[in-house]
Amino acid sequence: MRILKTQTLRGPNYWSIRRTKLIAMRLDLEELTEKTSDQIPGFYDGLVQLLPSVIEHYCSRGHRGGFLERVKEGTLMGHIVEHIALELQELAGMPVGFGRTRETAEQGVFNVVYEYVEEQAGRYAGRAAVRLCNSIVQAGTYSQAELEQDIADLKDLYANTALGPSTETIVKEADARKIPWTLLRARAMLQLGYGANQKRIQATLTESSSILGVELACDKEGTKTILGDAGIPVPQGTVVQYLDELEQAIDTVGGYPIVIKPLDGNHGRGITIDINSWREAELAYDLASEASKTRSVIVERYYNGSDHRILVVNGQVIAVAERIPAHVIGNEKSTIEELIAATNRDPDRGVGHDNILTQITVDQTSLAVLQKQGYDLKTILPQGTTAYLRATANLSTGGIAIDRTDDIHPENIWLAERAAKIIGLDIAGIDVVTPDITKPLREVDGVIVEVNAAPGFRMHAAPSVGLPRNVGAAVLDMLFPANAPSRIPIIAITGTNGKTTTTRMTAHIYRQTGKVVGYTSTDGVYIGDYLAEKGDNTGPYSAGMILKDPTVEVAVLESARGGILRSGLAFDRCDIGIVLNVAADHLGLGDINTIEQMARVKGVVAETVKPDGYAILNADDPLVAAMAQQVSSKVAYFSMNPDNPIIIDHLRRNGMAAVYEDGYLSILEGNWTLRIEKAVKCPATMGGMAPFMIANALAACLAAFCQGVNIETIRRGIRTFNPSAEQTPGRMNLFDLGEYHVLVDYAHNPHSYEAVGSFVSNWEGTKIGVVGGPGDRRDEDLILLGKIAARVFDRIIIKEDDDKRGRKPGEAANLIAKGIFQENSQANYETILDEVTAIETGLNDAQAGNLVVIFPESVTRAIADIKKRI
Ligand code: ATP
Ligand code: ATP
Ligand code: MG
Ligand code: MG
Repeated sequence: MRILKTQTLRGPNYWSIRRTKLIAMRLDLEELTEKTSDQIPGFYDGLVQLLPSVIEHYCSRGHRGGFLERVKEGTLMGHIVEHIALELQELAGMPVGFGRTRETAEQGVFNVVYEYVEEQAGRYAGRAAVRLCNSIVQAGTYSQAELEQDIADLKDLYANTALGPSTETIVKEADARKIPWTLLRARAMLQLGYGANQKRIQATLTESSSILGVELACDKEGTKTILGDAGIPVPQGTVVQYLDELEQAIDTVGGYPIVIKPLDGNHGRGITIDINSWREAELAYDLASEASKTRSVIVERYYNGSDHRILVVNGQVIAVAERIPAHVIGNEKSTIEELIAATNRDPDRGVGHDNILTQITVDQTSLAVLQKQGYDLKTILPQGTTAYLRATANLSTGGIAIDRTDDIHPENIWLAERAAKIIGLDIAGIDVVTPDITKPLREVDGVIVEVNAAPGFRMHAAPSVGLPRNVGAAVLDMLFPANAPSRIPIIAITGTNGKTTTTRMTAHIYRQTGKVVGYTSTDGVYIGDYLAEKGDNTGPYSAGMILKDPTVEVAVLESARGGILRSGLAFDRCDIGIVLNVAADHLGLGDINTIEQMARVKGVVAETVKPDGYAILNADDPLVAAMAQQVSSKVAYFSMNPDNPIIIDHLRRNGMAAVYEDGYLSILEGNWTLRIEKAVKCPATMGGMAPFMIANALAACLAAFCQGVNIETIRRGIRTFNPSAEQTPGRMNLFDLGEYHVLVDYAHNPHSYEAVGSFVSNWEGTKIGVVGGPGDRRDEDLILLGKIAARVFDRIIIKEDDDKRGRKPGEAANLIAKGIFQENSQANYETILDEVTAIETGLNDAQAGNLVVIFPESVTRAIADIKKRI
């Protein structure tokens, strides 16, 4: 077997609304197409031996061992690959569970879909699973070494993309609060929320962290001065630039013991504490001076006590940790060296900042610290005796943290909260040296040694001893205070036809409220009044562009089939999901072969609507109306027929609907009728002659109404929305050429031809059609297209697109001609393959009162040609 294609889904999708992170692998079973696992000698045993843990997979049996039963009894390889891909991720520490395997219309080809935690790892797991299964099939086994390598690689991929531990705590809380987040592509910045309501963070700096505060905190001497002036206890000290000032400085701080540190340092680099002699002081001076960019060093009195970190968020103490430097405790048997090795075997200890704890490293500093205590690496410590390997307590040099949040004295809380305010930081880590945090600093000669901007959260979220504190919650409470929205309204629009039109209409109506509307469509991404990016922008990338934009207050997103299938929706839920219609178009692409399957694709938009939002469904389209059964939100219907039984029933239950009644576009709610406007007064409806445009307008008005936009505003919007060639090129652009009229429309499937046909039929006078269809549609679609043309036009010119999309020249035209003939063997038609010539002919032959309808491949070119004649 082999993998034909792998897709990464990142949002609600065809396979699942709730499981948004899925890999969809198209797998050709090849020689294994007909072979179930029971027919492959040794497969079951080989699999169990290699991966005994798959016993945990319940599968459809609903109990432990269920999946293995299926393998024993016989199941196809696609299904097995799905389970192995999941298991490999599990073994690498990524919890996953969801999987589906479905056959496609192609013999032996399956869609294998399974969950992932991290994208790259997920894709890798699929490849490894196929490799593993192929190997068991062929050789009865897969080498243990290769399996271990796979798992190690998966772990690496996972670790490489892992967020920092502080960011992780914030993201976890954001998930719990259903606040969406995205990692931006620069500076590891994280966006929380959407559009105008988003907030940004970078590690534990927020977008409101003051640059003045951050710079002051980084200036240790400045911090001490400002805090000291406010009466806050800080170490007595002074700054020196040259060695010959050192002696004087030591005198100034009151003699030994002292501390020497770089003026601009962090992570404990270049610091020596508890200095008791001139020789030590000289050495410490060199160390600190080297670690300082400005060659300036701080000389301070040494304060007795242990190191504490007080975390202040938004003016409040959130957590307190006591930090103990890297150390080992004797057991009367092991040497210090052995004790260090044993300590480092703790799986919680890793390298750098990414684990809960960091490994203890043996270097010059630790040897010196040991020596000061009278030990070396070979010393065997008595039972219970502590040997320190560092003088300072940084977690990143192997220290541990003990939670002391419940022990701190109230006066110290008050001091810390004031200190954070005085420095001007929204998130501050305050370093305190005191022998006893339960007593006021002043009583026990404790001091605040520094204030840190962007403090790490690891010691509070995962202390080595004591209660973990949810510090992420404090940050999110600050960024999004009670009831402050993190999202912006999202209106998602799908359907076979009318998406762009309805998207533009909805955006236009919403703009009347004065809000900045961002919308995506087949023509481009628009923000406010301007085009932000041109192109076919109906997928998740473009939607992401809108949701990331901090100026956007409302998002209206055309959500086409292609994007949903390729990577899922760009949002986990929306406020309004409009489904306009489902018709036969794009069938046969992306393993969607029936109209029912297509309805499930479009249904994703409706099912993604949040519980108190609205799925807006077309009551006149049975496949769309049926989506009401699947949604978890409220439903509002639109219909061209006020007597539609679905509408009547819905209103009886006090539901909401928009209908075309008595020439009006109206909103109905229970017994009430709110008339928005007469259709003839809405330019989009072509004087009320284009029924499908009335339907689109109903959907757009209903969406705005469900979002609380008032009727007057909606009326203003729908009255001023004009399907002009400028505003909506290619959508029902009607040109008056004096004697006759020309309509340019972008219809490109039978359903939309039918729609335009309903307008054409309302036209009095002769109708000439210049028609064609994209080559990548099915034969029957092109034939149907011909039939519809034969019904509505008096004369037909068949042309072809320049882009034949895989067909031979003349092939598509022949199929259309076939349809025309089948419908009406007397029909007046001819074929002119070149689009420009075909249009010229149609226009040249037009007589007074005629309507020439053009379905061009290039809308811009056609419109330009027509304008030349005005
Ligand atoms: P970090 O980045 O880990 O906060 P740093 O390089 O900014 O470290 P400081 O916070 O100034 O340096 O000092 C590191 C540690 O050294 C303090 O947490 C404290 O344990 C100890 N220390 C610093 N100054 C003194 C002092 N005057 N008296 C006693 N101990 C001190
Ligand atoms: P695409 O899939 O190309 O993005 P779309 O769904 O965005 O298409 P529009 O661009 O709004 O659709 O309209 C394309 C054509 O479909 C229109 O020019 C018109 O011919 C037809 N159409 C528009 N609305 C409807 C509708 N509600 N029902 C049927 N046909 C429609
Ligand atoms: Mg510090
Ligand atoms: Mg479109």
